[in-house]
Amino acid sequence: MIPAEFDYAAPDSLEDALQALADGGEDAKLLAGGHSLIPLMKLRLAAPTLLVDLRRVPGLHGIARENGTWRIGAMTTHTELSGSEVGLLAQVAGTIADRQVRNRGTIGGSLAHGDPASDLPAALLVCDGTLTVQGASGQRTIAAADMFQDYMETAVGHEEIVTEIRVSAMDGWGFGYQKFTRRSEDWAMVAVSAAVKQLGDICEDVRVGLGNMASTPLRATAVEDALRGQHVTRETIAAAAAHAADGTDPPADLNASADYKRHLAQVLCRRALEEAAGLS
Ligand code: FAD
Repeated sequence: MIPAEFDYAAPDSLEDALQALADGGEDAKLLAGGHSLIPLMKLRLAAPTLLVDLRRVPGLHGIARENGTWRIGAMTTHTELSGSEVGLLAQVAGTIADRQVRNRGTIGGSLAHGDPASDLPAALLVCDGTLTVQGASGQRTIAAADMFQDYMETAVGHEEIVTEIRVSAMDGWGFGYQKFTRRSEDWAMVAVSAAVKQLGDICEDVRVGLGNMASTPLRATAVEDALRGQHVTRETIAAAAAHAADGTDPPADLNASADYKRHLAQVLCRRALEEAAGLS
């Protein structure tokens, strides 16, 4: 439970953080809230030789709305996000683990870590958000759909820093989030986030995200295709939710078999869609 020895730097500008990361080479790691990285280091599953702490870097905090888009600084904590008006992301952030984890963990750290069982990655897919990353040669934008490439592998380069996340305000949409855990503060066995936009009782648009149903978070496109354009009723939602496990490859673990997770995905999808449509 004691990490291997490492050096520590707490630069006070983005430029110095990028320089420290480059100087530290392959074994340097960024440190945000530390609530994923430090446990891995204590278990000796990660042994960085240098930690570059982002806490003093200006401009990485805060939430602001600009022309129908929310800008969320990468170092925004789950607690700050859950207390905000950022629709689905606020709702989801409030369900992460316990108060202690929410007070330290950050949205940038969670997305860069890319654990498919985490709450925010699949919700970001539903929001169709983007991540802004800064490297030595400049800034680029990563679409949520391109972010999660394999198990805990993301499109963020080793010498890049996620600086902010942008999501559309999604005014007029309803949101739902359902996850199944053995204890309330556990990671989800399966999680489903949903967003529904209605025109009268017609489903004008719908997006569904799945957590822990494959090596990356996924969009449940078969569910979306089945519900889009339909009257929104409990029956049409149930029929669409029956497709929630289509194309998934859930990992069996100590808590649940793959078949049980497929069943959970359908049940949670129905409940999340009902919540998003105001039928729960
Ligand atoms: P860190 O641990 O500091 O970093 C994680 C990784 O991201 C590292 O590789 C780091 O180098 C990299 N990184 C961090 N910031 C950046 C950046 N700005 N740019 C590029 N790379 C960056 N999460 C859930 O979603 N659901 C849960 O139920 C849940 N339960 C938890 C229970 C416990 C007991 C603990 C300790 C954690 C739990 N978590 C859960 C994880 C928690 O949400 C973490 O805080 C989060 O996953 C990582 O955020 P962090 O700021 O702590 O990142």
